[in-house]
Amino acid sequence: MIYLDSNATTKPSEAVTQAVHAATATLFANPSSVHRAGQEARRAVELARKDLAALIGVPPKELILTSGGTESIDLAIRGVLGARATSRGTGFQPVRPPNSTSPTQLPNIITAPIEHAAVRDLVAHLARQDQIEPRPLPLDARGMADPQALPSLIDEQTVLVSVQWANNETGVIQPIEQIAECCRAHKVPLHCDAVQWVGKMPCTEPPSEPRAQASGVSGRSTGENPLPCDLLTLSPHKFHGPKGVGALWVRRGVGLMPQSIGSQELDRRGGTENVPGIVGAGVAAREAVAWLADAEPRATLAARRDRFEQAILSRIPGTVVNGADWTRLWNTTNIAFPTLEAEAMLMLLSERGLAASAGAACSSGSLDPSPVLLAMGIPEPLAHGSIRLSLDRATTEAEIDEAIEIVVA
Ligand code: PLP
Repeated sequence: MIYLDSNATTKPSEAVTQAVHAATATLFANPSSVHRAGQEARRAVELARKDLAALIGVPPKELILTSGGTESIDLAIRGVLGARATSRGTGFQPVRPPNSTSPTQLPNIITAPIEHAAVRDLVAHLARQDQIEPRPLPLDARGMADPQALPSLIDEQTVLVSVQWANNETGVIQPIEQIAECCRAHKVPLHCDAVQWVGKMPCTEPPSEPRAQASGVSGRSTGENPLPCDLLTLSPHKFHGPKGVGALWVRRGVGLMPQSIGSQELDRRGGTENVPGIVGAGVAAREAVAWLADAEPRATLAARRDRFEQAILSRIPGTVVNGADWTRLWNTTNIAFPTLEAEAMLMLLSERGLAASAGAACSSGSLDPSPVLLAMGIPEPLAHGSIRLSLDRATTEAEIDEAIEIVVA
């Protein structure tokens, strides 16, 4: 099976698999226990935390280990919302706009319509429960979250802005630096869902390749907290780590109300740690740091992805690459096949040995086109027949050749 579905999940590396096995067998004690075995497990957890923190360039203490990207996002959004409602506050004093006319006294959360369902559905859920007013950040003419539209959405009831760094369906990179600048100016915390970015692109150094420079990452000052946001979500299973472990970085001073109560994670997230998963995540983080140190492999893989796209476009009339005109991650392609249905294509491709996916969800027998593609202005017939293929660090030229032939056939 040729696996071009790394944005869904990646295959753990050999070293990660071995580390998880070894930790399962030997580091079984509870890291909160005071005995020697417990302290060995604690030491392993803290070493992994250091490795994960190094990947995004933050102090390890500021990293909360969770069960994955979805829980980190939940903790970020509900946690900041909860802190706002208490005397602890979020640590931010929003700048009151001169003519603020908030239609409601509910706190509001600003997100882009291209967010992952973990953000989109949570915000919709909180809105249904009358806990927040959702404020959609419009997309610009190119289909990217528009930083120019942000100031007019922020008022004294704004608790949080949450924008992803890169899109899971198209790989389109969002202008996170400009959004961060606006949030800083208005003293509103910014959460970044960086699940698709971390491990694929450097977070803290200005990347040298032109693709990344266009994202606005370059030029950021590198201080103690070099990330552009105040909270950041990452998920190691997207960079060859294990599933069921994630992390939320919370900048010092940002108020966060825990969502599961317990003494672990400095009282910020209760529950016994998933030691083998965390150990594996640490190994994956170390491997990612080493891989990211050289921009060449990213360029090579981007060229592989581009070659795949060109072959499909030239050999299958009418196909369109969604998001091709935007700055994208090196690994993702989202291709529309007019008149075809995504799910039928995915099943046929799978039968012929190619794993891919689509942003569409099947509900009551009908296939809904991806809300992300529709929000980007992609016409419904194209969105219906769009599939995503995503490379990983190990995707070879031979796999690309074979994948081209399977898709064309
Ligand atoms: N955010 C983005 C952009 C994602 O792609 C995903 C997973 O696909 C998530 C959040 C959720 O992460 P997890 O699968 O670790 O819960």
